[in-house]
Amino acid sequence: MNDKPNEIMNIQGRNMKGKINVLDRSLEELKTDLVSLGEKQYRAEQVFQWLYKGVSSFSEMTNLSKALIQKLQNHFSIGLLAQQQRLVSSDKHTIKYLYLLSDNNIIECVVMKYLHGNTICLSTQVGCAMGCSFCASATGGLVRQLTAGEMMGQVLTVNQDIEEMGWQPVHGVVLMGSGEPLDNYANTMKFLHQIHHPKGYNMGWRNITLSTCGLVPKMRLLADEGLSINLAVSLHAPNDRIRQSIMRIAHAYSIQEVVEASKYYFEKTGRRVTFEYALIHHVNDMPEHAAELADLLKGFPCHVNLIPLNENKHSSQKRSHDESIKLFASILKSAGINTTRRREMGLDIQGACGQLKTAYLKQV
Ligand code: SF4
Repeated sequence: MNDKPNEIMNIQGRNMKGKINVLDRSLEELKTDLVSLGEKQYRAEQVFQWLYKGVSSFSEMTNLSKALIQKLQNHFSIGLLAQQQRLVSSDKHTIKYLYLLSDNNIIECVVMKYLHGNTICLSTQVGCAMGCSFCASATGGLVRQLTAGEMMGQVLTVNQDIEEMGWQPVHGVVLMGSGEPLDNYANTMKFLHQIHHPKGYNMGWRNITLSTCGLVPKMRLLADEGLSINLAVSLHAPNDRIRQSIMRIAHAYSIQEVVEASKYYFEKTGRRVTFEYALIHHVNDMPEHAAELADLLKGFPCHVNLIPLNENKHSSQKRSHDESIKLFASILKSAGINTTRRREMGLDIQGACGQLKTAYLKQV
């Protein structure tokens, strides 16, 4: 049988050992790979199903021949991630992981235990180019994009760990860790299609939330994809002046453009948009800011999620006092805006994005 692949030799994304992360391959790509290795197309479906059942090695794929397992071992690796650090919150409902990538970069992700199913908050980039002033992930800028397989690797590696703790596998995904997912558009789209694939992980679109700081053209592109995933937009301000003082992206797109793109997303997908609003003491948390925000969002059936700022050492910004948060929420609610305060999980394990990685890198 032919084991001298043609096309497969040209596949991008080989690791240091010259192997391809099989989690980077869509089912269609895997079919092409296996045909080029002299195998029948249907074998790709078998491999694909095994991968998302969470196997760690090709030899666990018990309905494959030894010859095929050998070919897979020769050309592919299963890109599970090497755990560098693991922190469990005191209430045991949140676990934060640092993972080492094959090029020695480090990423972090968090899994949260909810009654309706466990949710992973994963990273889409190493670092981030967006430079939000309150975010620890922004401190080193963008290092590189993550591949779809590296995003999937976070899900499957976490699943192996939480299974040992008796937790159910991850049921929902939030793209809200390090990185701006729409700044890594192609890889993020590929990951979304992989995790949704009925023959793979089979996660429902509605169990997926993508968070963006407001890359307006990409938000519109995402709306046109027609996926019914949830969109969370980091607004964090009621006007351009304040937004520009805390978010670099606000110099590129006005707040009005961000809200218009959010309305477009709602029109195209029917999914209600959530606006994330981190409350920063004396920056964006005054009653007049709440009134201005209510005015901005008037008539748009959206949701506002108020987040007491996760303070970090890289910024002098402070979280709002409880009374300010309550007053802010009540002004929005009385203007008819659906408003909640985000449940804070994992604060004792540096739960905000980028904080654990930054702390870890300082130690080594
Ligand atoms: S908040 Fe998000 S978009 Fe802004 S710098 Fe951090 S990771 Fe990037």
